[in-house]
Amino acid sequence: MMNFEVSLKAKNLKVTPQRIAILKEIEKNGHISIDDIYENIRKDYPSISLATVYKNITALYEVNILREIKAPAQKQRYELSCDHHIHVACEKCGKLEDIKIDISDISNKCAKMSGYQLYDTSAVFIGICPECAHKEKK
Ligand SMILES: [Zn+2]
Ligand SMILES: [Zn+2]
Repeated sequence: MMNFEVSLKAKNLKVTPQRIAILKEIEKNGHISIDDIYENIRKDYPSISLATVYKNITALYEVNILREIKAPAQKQRYELSCDHHIHVACEKCGKLEDIKIDISDISNKCAKMSGYQLYDTSAVFIGICPECAHKEKK
């Protein structure tokens, strides 16, 4: 488990119970939308507003603690950016899964070809998951 206090302080962000709760919620779920974070967190922090969750997510995203994942026609979801991997997304049911493969080859090539200093990836491969493919065949 990540020490969120340390990572917040390292980015000069104030450590607040709400921020810790948001980060824990994301860690627990892997990928989660702002609406879902809000729904889950409200049980422990009844006074928190959607705007507060939104603002905190933005702050965490801006300092690169969180990564945004955008899949077509879906709400954007967030995950902890310390973990490097790519995603596969199902167009039918909206499922999003992590694929833990070494992408340093691709990323090094991209850096070379573009001259950019690359520090993160948010690749999403789109298709149909095995469950949905199975249903379609019936
Ligand atoms: Zn599916
Ligand atoms: Zn992921």
